Amino acid sequence: MRFALVSALALPLLASAHGPAGLQHHHVRDTTTASAAASSASASGSGTSSAASSAASGSAAASSVATGTAVASGASSSGFGTITFTLASTNPTAIPYSSITYGAATQTTHAMSVTYTAGSKPTDIPNAPPIPNWASLNPKNYPTLDKTPPTDSDEVKQWIQEVANSGVPIPDFAPTNPGGCSNNTEAAKNATLCWWTCGGCDRDYDVSACPTKDNWGLTYDDGPSDYTTDLLAYLDQQDIRGTFFAVGSRVISRPALAQAEYIKGHQVAVHTWSHPYMTTKTNEEVIAELGWSRKVIKDTLGVTPIYWRPPYGDIDDRVRAIGMAMNLYPVMWTRISSTQTFDTLDYDLAGGQANPVQVLDSWDSIMNNSTQIDTGFIVLEHDLFQQTVDIAVGYILPEALAHKPAYNITPVITCLGMPMANAYMETNDNSTNKLPARE
Ligand SMILES: [Zn+2]
Repeated sequence: MRFALVSALALPLLASAHGPAGLQHHHVRDTTTASAAASSASASGSGTSSAASSAASGSAAASSVATGTAVASGASSSGFGTITFTLASTNPTAIPYSSITYGAATQTTHAMSVTYTAGSKPTDIPNAPPIPNWASLNPKNYPTLDKTPPTDSDEVKQWIQEVANSGVPIPDFAPTNPGGCSNNTEAAKNATLCWWTCGGCDRDYDVSACPTKDNWGLTYDDGPSDYTTDLLAYLDQQDIRGTFFAVGSRVISRPALAQAEYIKGHQVAVHTWSHPYMTTKTNEEVIAELGWSRKVIKDTLGVTPIYWRPPYGDIDDRVRAIGMAMNLYPVMWTRISSTQTFDTLDYDLAGGQANPVQVLDSWDSIMNNSTQIDTGFIVLEHDLFQQTVDIAVGYILPEALAHKPAYNITPVITCLGMPMANAYMETNDNSTNKLPARE
């Protein structure tokens, strides 16, 4: 069994969107790196608690090389053991990674120093329309947070018509059962579905890597959250831009923060309205999820993303086609094999299914794997939780910045060799980034 089980109940913000507990979440990666995969696999196989999983990791790591840097970072007293590699760099203000755990005390977040006034434009998109006044957005004009929107509204009916008019054929697959591959034995082995969740099938137009070696398409999912501010501050400080896959329910909750991402030169893309397993949804529900998240981003930024990421990477040819019919290209994360995906496990850290040592060892595996492949890569990380942001700004990003050879860290659209303008419908140059659906 190669899947970490995620307890939806442990994830308060998204719990309502996750459906029944026990759904398969991220693949456990990299059996070649001792403690992370071993203890994750044991946790998922036996259903042990995170405390037991931590103990397993601790004993595994006890035989690995301890380093001065790691000890200085506070790992030795944590019970998690030490990471299996030498940290080349940490953020001097990072909190000890041993304290970045499920249930860690909430820190004070930094208030956003600047909000952008209506009419501002991102400097990296010369033909961008001015941004709207975020304060005029009324949450009452949008669906209930964290639930798949109703499919009988005027808006959704219009998007259903848009899909019908697109010229993109939608395969006639039944939605999958909740519960992932083990609860869909026929669909899981049906190659014609091209279901990424069960076997990693992808299509040529899926964006799963950056074409050029040592290019990292930096992505953060599920925000904007209260902790996104701290991430943006660090990225500003290091002059790094990335791609934010924003959940519609979070955008209407924090529109000024979504504007800050956009104006600061980050790419903003779609991550659905309520974060469901998309293959479990009907065609109309998929349309409602994509349509409302696309709309709230347009209403907030003035531009409509043409890239999206399916939550949990849960996409098949039916869901792909609906996205394409709505002019949304899918962006995944890099996957070498069923056990080698570029997932930091940071989400499991926030949920209590992984400890910080496992996450940092996962990150070390990703860096090692990045040297083994001929292309660049895209990594799964999240800006929803304090823990995921703390491990990113304290450890993952400083390690990446110290990597030799140097990584070129950019938004996904940039690593694809395109200007930021090509990330949005209104500013895209159709000659270089042709949209999939008929205009
Ligand atoms: Zn997500």
